[in-house]
Amino acid sequence: MVTNQTQPQTQNLTDGMHIVVDALKRNGVDTIFGLVGIPVTDLARHAQEVGIRFVGFRHEQSAGNAAAAAGFITKKPGICLTVSAPGFLNGLTALANATTNGFPMIQISGSSDRAIIDLQQGDYEELDQMNIAKPFCKAAYRINKPQDIATGIARAIRAAVTGRPGGVYLDLTTALLAAAVDKDEMEKTLYTVVDPNPAIIPSQESVDRALQLLASAKNPLIILGKGAAYAQADDDIKTFIEKTGIPFLPMSMAKGLMPDDHPQSAAAARGYVMSNADVVVLMGARLNWLLGHGKGKHWNPNVKFIQLDIDGMEFDSNRQILAPVAGDIGSSMKAFVAGLAKYSIKADAAWMDGINKDKAVNAQKMEARLANVTEPMNFYCTLKAVRDVLDKQRDYYLVNEGANTLDDTRNVINMYEPRKRLDCGTWGVMGIGMGYAIGAAVTTGKQVVSIHGDSAFGFSGMEVETMCRFKLPITVVVFNNGGIYKGDSPNLSGGTDPSPTTLMPDARYDKVIEAFGGDAYYVTTPAELTDALTKAIASKKPSLIDVKIDPSDGLESGHIGNLNPATVIKEAH
Ligand code: ADP
Ligand code: MG
Repeated sequence: MVTNQTQPQTQNLTDGMHIVVDALKRNGVDTIFGLVGIPVTDLARHAQEVGIRFVGFRHEQSAGNAAAAAGFITKKPGICLTVSAPGFLNGLTALANATTNGFPMIQISGSSDRAIIDLQQGDYEELDQMNIAKPFCKAAYRINKPQDIATGIARAIRAAVTGRPGGVYLDLTTALLAAAVDKDEMEKTLYTVVDPNPAIIPSQESVDRALQLLASAKNPLIILGKGAAYAQADDDIKTFIEKTGIPFLPMSMAKGLMPDDHPQSAAAARGYVMSNADVVVLMGARLNWLLGHGKGKHWNPNVKFIQLDIDGMEFDSNRQILAPVAGDIGSSMKAFVAGLAKYSIKADAAWMDGINKDKAVNAQKMEARLANVTEPMNFYCTLKAVRDVLDKQRDYYLVNEGANTLDDTRNVINMYEPRKRLDCGTWGVMGIGMGYAIGAAVTTGKQVVSIHGDSAFGFSGMEVETMCRFKLPITVVVFNNGGIYKGDSPNLSGGTDPSPTTLMPDARYDKVIEAFGGDAYYVTTPAELTDALTKAIASKKPSLIDVKIDPSDGLESGHIGNLNPATVIKEAH
């Protein structure tokens, strides 16, 4: 037995904190991402003592992002531990982001004395955390009594993974953590949650309606979303796509669910298929802003939608869904594959021919862009060097954040395996990079290549220390064009302050990792980049490559300039 401040004297007495750890362990929690302090330090210590890996971060948001990444990859809730008030709030952005993206995670936070909080008497780090968390997560609970620990943990786990996955907040009061309890009595109350994520089987009627509609299509299209990737129904999805010959379009984090070089991939003909498809199957993808809400100039005005989603509330969120299929993707795809015996569904050869023609034209344009080497480098020749190295690897995770760095990388770097691409997601958020990279490396033990714009990297850059401390096989690549979007925008006042979008033009992010003993590379040409990336990956050591990119390269807001009021106003005038 360890001795610590909260450890009671008597052998069979323990405290709430130890029981919480026991309950987590019993439910298969093997890793906690977090940042300790009052009142949860001993919780982390004890978790480590009993064999749960504790990965300590420099900022709670990154710890939360790591937990969310773990949740997406494993289909089990990732756990993030935070201290009260400010630590809780720092983690909350990640919890909200996980909820928005449908990643299962649980943020467990210590909180100060309820009696003082409720009378607002001014406690150390006083904040009514559970009520603040509620609108930002799928569910929020507080455990007040040690006797309720098993129930509290069970509720949190189920809420995170059942139905549409999401973020759950679990509040642990100081009183609960410190409560002296009888160890044997408490342990009798603990249990393992049975089937935390039960199958949700779609009705046969909804499956028939969908397959009938699909059978009537001339130009069918399947859109794969990250819900389909998350579902781990890879084989049935592949069987259905290949047997029907329907072209597919992967959303960003669904890239690799079907390999990007698959002949039925329509990724390089995105505009063409959206404007010509007559029946579209949304497979774990929402018809949100990332798909132009399913209407407007990019879409065939007569397109009909089939949607497979675990959450019946999702249907009709933007336009009519003629064939909603409510169920988990695994169960729905089983029914779809079985349905192929009944319905004859086969994509038209002429449809695929048209797509292939469009793909060929776009591929040619892309190769020309990639081949245009400039000095300093532009985004595309940088990405060609990265692509040529990464295309030889398959077993790695790609993390990607930024504006141009995100959009261009998504278009150039192929993925070949499911759930291996983690990026800005539904919110298009910056700051997920290092958290996702560390979460993926810790969870899988695999190589991670983490590609960040220089601005995006700044949000979580200090986690380079975390990745070095844990000796993780992560290669961070910073696309350094010295600014947000680009580095050469003027200060409109004519003054000497840098413009709002300007960062340091000669910043050397490689020096950051040097401080922590990782491998540093600074490159200015494609050949140097090829060499550095090859070496960095082969070494399996924490490494960072600063790639100097032309400050004048980059579009304001990347590919979503249409959402930027500045651009919209400019175009209107
Ligand atoms: P993308 O951004 O890739 O289009 P979204 O996150 O917008 O993906 O959509 C994912 C959808 O998948 C959500 O509507 C979510 O409810 C759904 N989903 C998540 N997990 C599952 C699952 N196991 N089965 C079915 N649908 C799921
Ligand atoms: Mg930049």
